[in-house]
Amino acid sequence: MSTETVKFEPEYAQPLLQEIMDRSGQNLLACYQCRRCAAGCPVSDEAGVTPDRLIRMIVFGQKEEALKNFLVWRCVACYTCGERCPNNIQTARITETLKQISKKANLEPLVPKVAAFHDSFLKSATNNGRLSEMEFMILLLKKIKNAGGWSAVIAEMKSQSKLGKALYKKKRIHFGSEKVKNLSEIKKLVKKAEAFS
Ligand code: SF4
Ligand code: SF4
Repeated sequence: MSTETVKFEPEYAQPLLQEIMDRSGQNLLACYQCRRCAAGCPVSDEAGVTPDRLIRMIVFGQKEEALKNFLVWRCVACYTCGERCPNNIQTARITETLKQISKKANLEPLVPKVAAFHDSFLKSATNNGRLSEMEFMILLLKKIKNAGGWSAVIAEMKSQSKLGKALYKKKRIHFGSEKVKNLSEIKKLVKKAEAFS
């Protein structure tokens, strides 16, 4: 853990903190650094940052550190941290907000494949009101091709084929796409969220 001393400057820290609280709907000021979230996060070792540390960076206005860390890109939104938090702080909503801020600012994502996955997922879910697995895969593979050519597409398909077969056997992958009944409601919600960002 870093022993670097960070000076708290409220005027400097406040705008970032307020923006993230508004957009994520989480009260970061309720965090008292008990670290119960850190003990349960399945990606914290790999990410090198735990949910409590991320919250502390934001509270202290460390914008660059908050945006450029692997927890933002490797958080799997399992919500374990929120389940364990005595103050009901859902870090998954905070990492999602930070992803959106990064994208809006055109910052290079630390894990481009996660950014491509995220874009493709949102696009397909917005088009149908729910995820269409086939559309999602096509969108994702297109992005992979644009970034690394056909060899990257073939490598990706090879690396995911075992998982794909297992999901198909369990009927978790469908070939058709089905739209929800009130798709216009979903589109309105997405528009509203985009206007907010
Ligand atoms: S469990 Fe909640 S209060 Fe405790 S450090 Fe994590 S976010 Fe903060
Ligand atoms: S939601 Fe994200 S930050 Fe929270 S425990 Fe899961 S992976 Fe870790």
